Parts: sequence; structure tokens; C-alpha cells
Amino acid sequence: MSEKYKDVIIGLEVHIQLTNLKTKLFCGCSNDYRGKEPNTYVCPICIGLPGSLPVVNRRAIEFATRLAIALGSDINESFWFFRKNYFYPDMSKNFQISQYNKAGGRAFGDGGKITIKLDGKKMDLQLNRVHLEEDPARLVHKGSIATSPYTLVDYNRSGVTLIEIVSDPVMNSPEEAREYLKQLKSIVQYTGISDLDLEGSCRVDANISIKGHARSEVKNINSFKEVERALKWEIQRQKNQLKRGKELIQETRHWDDKRRITISLRTKEFEKDYRYFPEQDLVPIDLEKSFINKVKKELPEMPSERIKRFQKEYSLSEFDSEILVLDKDIADFFEEGIKSENSFGSEEYKQFCNWLMGDISRWLNDNNKSIKETQLNPKILVDLIKNINTGKITGKIAKSFIDEMMKGTKIPEIIKKSGKKRISDKKEITKVVKEVIEENPRIVEDVKKNPKAMQALIGKCMQKTKGQLDPEITRDIMLKILKK
Ligand SMILES: [Zn+2]
Repeated sequence: MSEKYKDVIIGLEVHIQLTNLKTKLFCGCSNDYRGKEPNTYVCPICIGLPGSLPVVNRRAIEFATRLAIALGSDINESFWFFRKNYFYPDMSKNFQISQYNKAGGRAFGDGGKITIKLDGKKMDLQLNRVHLEEDPARLVHKGSIATSPYTLVDYNRSGVTLIEIVSDPVMNSPEEAREYLKQLKSIVQYTGISDLDLEGSCRVDANISIKGHARSEVKNINSFKEVERALKWEIQRQKNQLKRGKELIQETRHWDDKRRITISLRTKEFEKDYRYFPEQDLVPIDLEKSFINKVKKELPEMPSERIKRFQKEYSLSEFDSEILVLDKDIADFFEEGIKSENSFGSEEYKQFCNWLMGDISRWLNDNNKSIKETQLNPKILVDLIKNINTGKITGKIAKSFIDEMMKGTKIPEIIKKSGKKRISDKKEITKVVKEVIEENPRIVEDVKKNPKAMQALIGKCMQKTKGQLDPEITRDIMLKILKK
């Protein structure tokens, strides 16, 4: 841990929408509310009209079970839901159906862990619990929450299933938090319960304190990327406050991602303010052992297993496997590509991996896209590697193909279009070499005294042909001609 973050304590509450469900947690309304006319995906249950009765979505329980198993949490086989009472326009019934792990209540799952690697060091970060709850409605502010003249409410989101993953206060720096979220995102992606690239599909509340002082809770950080930034800002704010001799108060703050600062919303409400009590409109839930075992058996391959398999099956290093596997789409792309070409062996696997982790990842980062959002397919990368290995194009030329490849253009077409291919025809090379020798008598003189000067002549040949000549054949021909 760096000196800079000594005494910093961070705990994260991550809310993930189960976007891959078809319907909401307690009613049959569609889950797929994004981009739809506001307040059209609603029914008496999810806007809480008197007399309406919720019924729990069985598939939501299955998805929660999948995640709990993947995180290594202990699943509580019997539990019931609780009402969390609060008065705010995002919950029209004035309570949220949630879970509570006190007063006889239990979380969906207790404990679990997420393993991160930071500066080459492995760390297990302990989870506190995993629980299910319904999403509130979406409040739409004009501009910033602090200055907006009005607020609109869209109940389409109200009642969508959220799963909350609560860590213990075990993180000590924004970087640890970033790695934690990276691994969590990967695990969620592999379970297939949610698409975290969808806007608003995950929200993070962060508890931050300096040892010995009151903590603040920064609410509603709307993307994983913002978390590190928000944490850095809030830690600095607390430290400055203490430096000025002011004591910190327990409060809830809001991350304003436009101004990139946290602002005070309210002094922190205490748990008793929520008057938690059991939700009497829902029956207690008992999970059968056979149900949990079935979900466990059907659990897709998880990142940690895939990393081991990649090392074994494809002779990749642990480092390479970890990077490839982190993003499931990239890992799937890798496997589809190398399996489609029988002539490929461990050397080509490594090449394929290098292209994905190097030039392609760089392009994706620069263009802020995921691999699925491009037209690149595994066959194109297979072709590229084959063309390099048979000497048709040089690695340098291949790099200049990236933009076209991302548009889905096939390699033979790119080669044709660019007029760039590796020239290995001896007659053609001899012609170029002779020209260069004729044009540069002074360098030719130098070579007689210093054979190393020949490199300058080869450079001239490359210049003339935009790097297309096969360097080894060119060198051989040059040597022969100069010896004459
Ligand atoms: Zn509904």
C-alpha cells in the first residue's frame, strides 16, 4: 500500500441490474425499458397501487444463485423479503422491497470473495453479503442534481431486479477498488446474468473514511470507470478537511460526474430511519438443495477456471491468460479464431493473443468500443497471421491494416487496396538493388571500408518500395552484387 493512501478505508456496495431477465422482480412488466416511452412499462404492482400483490420472479432467484455460487458466498436456503421504508419520489409505494440481514432477516448469500492482482501481488477481498432488491424509478434531472429547476420521474425502471454485492471495508486505495470492480465485472459477464455495458446497469455506492474519523457514503456512481475518480476526489476532500482542523461528519454525498466532485446531499440517515420489517405480501422463500445443486452444475465456466485452461490447452503464460480471459468477448474471439485454423499451434496462439492484447486492444481503447461493436471477426485475424507467416506481408505493413480490419474488410482485399505486399521476387528485388547502388556511389565506397554501411543501402531499397521488400532476400542479393 502506498504511503499516500495510508489509513484510507473503502467499502463498496455495487448494484447490478439483472438485465438478462425478461421481466421485473415482482411483476410481469418487461425488463427492457431502455429507450422506451417513459412510464409505459408499468403495472399496479410496480407502481405500488393499493391491493396489488407482488409475486417473486423464479428466474431472478436462479440468477442470484448463480452469482452467489460464482462469488463463493454461502447461500441462505430460507429467507424472506423486507420492506425498507423511505419517502422519496423514486418509490411510489414509499418502501422498497429488499432484504435485511438483521431482526431475523437474512441476506441472499453471506460472505464470498473477489481475488485481485495489484502490482503483481494477489489479494483476496472479503465480501460481506449479496442480496436481492427492486430498483427504484429513474429520476431525470435537468443538468446537475444540485441546480436542476425540476425533476422528472420514469417508473419504467421501478421494480427491475437488482443484486447488491456488499464488500467488507477492506480496500485501502482507489486502485484496489478499480481492480475489485474489474474482476467483479468479469465474473458477472461470465455468469450471463447481466450486460454491464448497458447504461445504468450498474451503480456503485462507496463508503470512504480515514481511520478514526466519520465516514461518508458517496451515492450513485453510475459507471465502474467513475469509481476510481470519485474515490480519489473524496479522499482528498476528507484529508483537506482534516488538515484545516475540521472534523468530518457522517453524511451522504452525491458524485456529480459532470463537475467531477462530490456534493453533500444530506447528513446520513441511520438504519433505524428505514423501519425495516418483513414484507407480509410475499411468502418466505425456501430454496431446495436440489435447485442449488442444479444451478451449480449448470454454472458456465468462470474466469479463474478459464485462465487455467488457457495455460494448459494453449501454452499461454499466466499473465497472457489473465488478460485474455478478463473480457469474455475477447476470450471467446480468441478461442473461435485459433480453433478455426487447423495449421495453428502454440506459436500462432501466442501471435493471435499478442494481436488481441496489443494493437487491437489499443484500437478499442482509443475508439472507446468493445470488440463486439466492431466488424472484426476471428477469420480476419487468422488470415492476417497466415499472411505474415508466409511472408506475404511484413509485420509493419500488417499494423497499418488495423483500421480496415476493424471495418470488417477481408485481408486479401486490404492487400489489394493498399498495394502493399511483401516483395520476395528475386528479379524485382535485384532491379531495385541495382538502382540503389547506382544512385549512391559514395555509400558503396564506404561499404568497402566498413561492411556495416551496407545497412544504409538496404534502408534506401526499403524507402523506394515503402518497406515491401523481403529484408533477408534483399541483403543476400546486395551482398552478391557488391562482391562482384
Ligand atoms: Zn409491473
